[in-house]
Amino acid sequence: MPAPVITLNHVSKVYSNGTVALQDMNMTIQEGQFVSLVGPSGCGKSTVLRLVAGLGHLTTGSIEWGQNLEKDAPQGEPKLAFVFQEPALMPWATVMDNVRLPLKLAGEPKPKADRDVLEALQLVGLRGFERSFPRELSGGMRMRVSIARALVTKPQVLLMDEPFGALDEITRSKLNSDLLELWQEKRWTVLFVTHNIYEAVYLSNRVVVMAARPGRVIADIPIDAPYPRSEDFRTSSLYNNYCREVSARLHEAMHGSAQDPPYLRPLSAGRLR
Ligand code: ADP
Repeated sequence: MPAPVITLNHVSKVYSNGTVALQDMNMTIQEGQFVSLVGPSGCGKSTVLRLVAGLGHLTTGSIEWGQNLEKDAPQGEPKLAFVFQEPALMPWATVMDNVRLPLKLAGEPKPKADRDVLEALQLVGLRGFERSFPRELSGGMRMRVSIARALVTKPQVLLMDEPFGALDEITRSKLNSDLLELWQEKRWTVLFVTHNIYEAVYLSNRVVVMAARPGRVIADIPIDAPYPRSEDFRTSSLYNNYCREVSARLHEAMHGSAQDPPYLRPLSAGRLR
């Protein structure tokens, strides 16, 4: 049984304007899991990620970290990295300098930092672009830089907030496959926020569906399909069935009933007339 890495115990978050972003959220994420959070806008997905990252205070409850986790000296923080929807790169700095930033801030000596940066760029398929500037890269490549900047610190936990939401479908699909390949190699624990059911099912071994007002978990669905997941998985009936299930729970989150949303229901003869 894999060890727990992140445990949310009765976590609530009420913002200062009175918005109840999360109410009594309980969730345990195990080592090496790839967990996606899906749910309508405003259900508290980003709030969960920010609280796990230590950005902001809990109103009630606690977040516990696994005992086995390596801790970052000297603060004793768990080794985690955050990837946002916007790559948030420094436009005046090269790819190399952008990826080096967290190591520079941590005071890592330059020769060692440079080796780590080149290794991270290799992982995301960007060797050869060290001297490029963000404006010279496509949206997908800029996101790869952002992922390299997260990986350069060798995190054990990766928090990703809709990282591919702004990309076109083909780029998103390629980045999904590449991310999965890396995850299989490195086995980080990943908490991934997305609006996209198909992306969540393709990537994750667990999909957590949230509802809004107040933000809470309404379903926790294990995606019991083996890795590596290839294009064959995307067209399999197993994949389809999981998408349908997540979609139905999402529909419930938005409309309070568990039936299939209209676009997943087969057209009846009557409606074809
Ligand atoms: P999601 O990521 O699912 O779209 P968020 O976690 O961003 O949801 O937000 C959850 C709720 O908390 C929303 O109603 C949002 O408007 C509110 N919220 C988020 N951040 C703040 C803040 N800093 N101050 C007040 N309300 C906030």
